[in-house]
Amino acid sequence: TCGICVEKCPFDAIEIINLPKELQDDPAHRYGENAFSLYGLPAPQEGQVTGILGPNGIGKTTAVRILAGELEPNLGRHADADEIGWDEVLEAYRGTELQDYIADVRDGEVTVARKPQYVDQIPNTFDGNTRELLERTNERDALDHLVERLSIGPVMEQSIDDLSGGELQRVALAATLARDTDFYFLDEITPYLDIGQRVTAARLIRELAEEEGKSMLVVEHDLAILDLLADTLHVAYGEPGAYGVITAPKSVRNGINEYLSGYLDNENMRIRPDPIEFEEHAPRSATRGDTLVEYPDLTKSYGDGEFTLEVEGGEIRENEVLGIVGPNGIGKSTFAKLLTGNLESDEGDADLDLDISYKPQYVTIDQHMRVDAFLSSITDQFGSSYWNTEIAQPLQLERIMEQNLSDLSGGERQRVAIAACLSDSADLYLLDEPSAHLDVDQRVQATSAIRRYAEQQDATVMVIDHDIYMIDLLADRLMVFDGEPAVRGRAGQPQPMRDGMNEFLANLEVTFRRDERTSRPRINKPASQLDKQQKQDGEYYYAP
Ligand code: ADP
Ligand code: ADP
Repeated sequence: TCGICVEKCPFDAIEIINLPKELQDDPAHRYGENAFSLYGLPAPQEGQVTGILGPNGIGKTTAVRILAGELEPNLGRHADADEIGWDEVLEAYRGTELQDYIADVRDGEVTVARKPQYVDQIPNTFDGNTRELLERTNERDALDHLVERLSIGPVMEQSIDDLSGGELQRVALAATLARDTDFYFLDEITPYLDIGQRVTAARLIRELAEEEGKSMLVVEHDLAILDLLADTLHVAYGEPGAYGVITAPKSVRNGINEYLSGYLDNENMRIRPDPIEFEEHAPRSATRGDTLVEYPDLTKSYGDGEFTLEVEGGEIRENEVLGIVGPNGIGKSTFAKLLTGNLESDEGDADLDLDISYKPQYVTIDQHMRVDAFLSSITDQFGSSYWNTEIAQPLQLERIMEQNLSDLSGGERQRVAIAACLSDSADLYLLDEPSAHLDVDQRVQATSAIRRYAEQQDATVMVIDHDIYMIDLLADRLMVFDGEPAVRGRAGQPQPMRDGMNEFLANLEVTFRRDERTSRPRINKPASQLDKQQKQDGEYYYAP
């Protein structure tokens, strides 16, 4: 037996190369015969933020449910699970970092607050307004502080049903952090948040660990934020749906570096064929490329001028990937809709006379139609070896081809929508928040699919996103939005990466340094030596 299966290997002649040492032990939990098995558990520490990095379907939620005392682990002996109690589990973990923790779980002494992954589902379970929801969890008397830091004030009296995704995320975070428990489990904190809000959320979580000595366990797919947030990191790998391994803790720097390099040092385990590499210096084609199209100054107001967007006229170049960044509620999607003709401008003519393939922020494909039928209705390339290699494989579509669009999860729907957008033949591809709902592996793969597609098809692509690593890996130039969210927005001309990043990060007052080993960008601590120096030099991202 190879350690993955209970009995004999069902694949008979299977050759296990390099079986990681974790898999030679018993799993922490197995859901049933030939069902998912989880190896290893994360170890939360008092006063620290412990991160988990890995794809979906690898057992992160299972691990959290065990640590929360909701799921009694069967140590892989699902057949006689009834005989296994917490005493036996404790025995199995004697001498490990988890021993004391599991003893507390056994004695019912661990109190836990959890933020769910899918905040969109909160309105289904709660009737009432924001204030009512938050007052129910105000155990630490910290509510006013959280409401202020997370800018929840304006929606305090609003019904939970009417909140946007970003508002729900901040309310869910405040509700969790307002509780007075020993352990806080946060399953993704960044979905729907802009970068400023992500940084604020990360700092609030750190403060709760550092100042109140709480244990925080966070699952997160935005690597720049995870880096800022966590003290130690468990990498999760395996075969989604089949088995997952949670590694022993690594320092957050090494954990992310190893993840990006595709190779886990201590485990002697390759998790990806190629490394992901960042360019240290501002890139590439800042001057290359003919003009695809010029657009004039544009303005657009909603209602009686409740929100006004001003766009400075500019040009989009052939074969470039143009990144678009800025806070939530500043008019990025409005600009996208002006370009695609889904919305009329008040001043200036946005009719570009171009074929634009557009993936909106909120993906609404939910017809009763199979994925393969939907995609083959878009492109006659569907099923060709080129399309399979460049689109279907990197976006992991094979396994969901026969499902109905209406049955897909958020991440599956996002991948189908990206595939549909890129498969259409068009002059310009415009993707609004492709990273939303994607796990870290899927982000990496979607990023390289978009980048390769742009290069090989000589396509011009515009990408709006809040994941700074994704923007860094994708964009040749940058368009920066600023202003006052929900009141007025201003869009500057597309500019070279260095200038764009400097303008964007100066608005946020965030600087990045470079990791010595991998050159990946890391957020500086506010008021650190480097932070002060870089602000003074005006180099927020590509520090010399
Ligand atoms: P993650 O949080 O990393 O996305 P989960 O822990 O939710 O992963 O799930 C890991 C695997 O375990 C999935 O393949 C899931 O289908 C399976 N699984 C989860 N709960 C159960 C259960 N109660 N019975 C059987 N399989 C389950
Ligand atoms: P972003 O994409 O940068 O988050 P949006 O372009 O979606 O910003 O929205 C900018 C502002 O305009 C927000 O305050 C939003 O509430 C408002 N807004 C967007 N669409 C409409 C609409 N159809 N009617 C009225 N206000 C709108």
